[in-house]
Amino acid sequence: MAKARSGYPEPVERLIESFGRLPGIGRRTATRLALHVLKGSQDEAKEFSRAIEDTKERVACCSVCYQLTESDPCPICADERRDASIVLVVEQPSDLMSIEGTGIYRGVYHVLTGRIDPLAGVEPTDLTIGPLFDRIGDPTRNSRGVAIDEVILGLNPTLEGDSTSLFLAEELARRGVRTSRLARGIPSGTQLEYASAAVLADAIEGRQVLGDETFG
Ligand SMILES: [Zn+2]
Repeated sequence: MAKARSGYPEPVERLIESFGRLPGIGRRTATRLALHVLKGSQDEAKEFSRAIEDTKERVACCSVCYQLTESDPCPICADERRDASIVLVVEQPSDLMSIEGTGIYRGVYHVLTGRIDPLAGVEPTDLTIGPLFDRIGDPTRNSRGVAIDEVILGLNPTLEGDSTSLFLAEELARRGVRTSRLARGIPSGTQLEYASAAVLADAIEGRQVLGDETFG
């Protein structure tokens, strides 16, 4: 058995290392979290590890919109009350959750699982852009088999988000699909998931249709 480098018992060291692999968690915070788990009850620790296991075992991506879901298609894609002819494109499931939190959007979504970022090695083929075009080209691939009338670009107002929007807008224009993007109420550089519900609601309601002249 490898000697723990910290002097903590081996299981504690493993837990520290596991926490330390999470984004934004350094060694010191990882140690604090591990010791916190140690202080808690047996039940709390069991529930924590079960939540991690269940997340990996039971949650997958919706085969239509790539939202995280326990059922496929996801409850949003399957919901008859939602307008499946309007698709709001977001970067991450967390963006979708924020917009759902406003309660005003009644269309469906498409989660790109990121944004084009050549410097970080993220190309269009690394994202779910192909499946988005499949949904547009073939209604049977869209939620409930409905044809898509409008795509709303809801990417984050960052350099990469904007260039991804530009790429998508050009491709969508080529496919002749009406494309709009969220109104610029969201300050540049702000992450969508942290925008307030009121700002998000305004951004959706005030969305701007993109014409040929926008990118001409
Ligand atoms: Zn879905």
